[in-house]
Amino acid sequence: MSKLPRVALIITGGTIDSVGTDRLDLAWYIEAGKRLNTGELLAQLPELESIARVEEFPFRRLPSHALVDKDWLDLVRTIHSIFDDDRADGIVITHGTNTIEETAYFLNLTLKTDRPVVIVGAMRPSSALSADGYLNLLNAARVAGDPSSRGRGALLAMNDTIYSGRDVTKTATYRVQAFQGRDLGPLGYSDADGKVVYYHQSVKPHTVNTEFDVRDRQSLPRVDVVVSYVGADGAMIDAAVAAGARGIISAGTGAGRPTPAEDEAFNRASKKGVIICIGTRVGSGRVVRSPGLVRRGFVASDNLQPWKARVLLALALTKTSDPDEIQRCFNTY
Ligand code: GLU
Repeated sequence: MSKLPRVALIITGGTIDSVGTDRLDLAWYIEAGKRLNTGELLAQLPELESIARVEEFPFRRLPSHALVDKDWLDLVRTIHSIFDDDRADGIVITHGTNTIEETAYFLNLTLKTDRPVVIVGAMRPSSALSADGYLNLLNAARVAGDPSSRGRGALLAMNDTIYSGRDVTKTATYRVQAFQGRDLGPLGYSDADGKVVYYHQSVKPHTVNTEFDVRDRQSLPRVDVVVSYVGADGAMIDAAVAAGARGIISAGTGAGRPTPAEDEAFNRASKKGVIICIGTRVGSGRVVRSPGLVRRGFVASDNLQPWKARVLLALALTKTSDPDEIQRCFNTY
């Protein structure tokens, strides 16, 4: 009987299993929409057999910018059913890089398991010269199969580096080192000697220690993101309210400053019961809950990117509509 860990593989699409027109197609492959067939990604990585016993589980394959909330909810159910049936010690999810950090944070907040769940992508398609996906996938399997990865929340492993699903963000369109923890750094590495090494641990509660359980949900509350810029007049905020948003994240200028016209639109939205969360378009650093925000019943995003704040606000809205309670969630997670 093999001592190798059992790793389940869920392929959700993205660049890692995409096929370009030739080895120099590093950019147009997404438009062609060609992918490896079921089993082909694994077949091209025979070295995995010495790392883990990998079993592929079916899931729909999409570019990651095509995902909707329902895909996340189904993914959560798929992950739980694999663990509930004890089919794996850890799970690797391949995913497009455009929204991988949103999925990673969503899983970090909603999975009810200690077992490792590692999400991985590639910056170059499977057919590319120096395709990064194969080693990324092999490293992700190492991380998912390593007992030291237990209890660390949903992880993102790319470019030999392991990040918390909460902290990681994409910082470049094409570079293989696109993923960074910015202010917060990585947790560890899947390194050149084949070892998985951790140096840091997130103090933010995750997985089994959050109040969010979406296993029975078919949808999430609508939350939109509105970006500020010189002259923004609030039309996008009114449109979000008209579309039925229950929450709006402001990707404000600087330390969280919408324009005066946007502030008026946010006040109008708030009067209708929409929760307003003030964030920033800057890319790093906290947005703090000033006395003015408290007075208006608005929430501050802490150091979450606006699209990650959207994830947390949607989940918080499944529990409460009280701005102070929602701020507690932002202070906590
Ligand atoms: N780099 C890819 C693109 O935008 C990512 C695709 C994805 O996230 O599915 O072309």
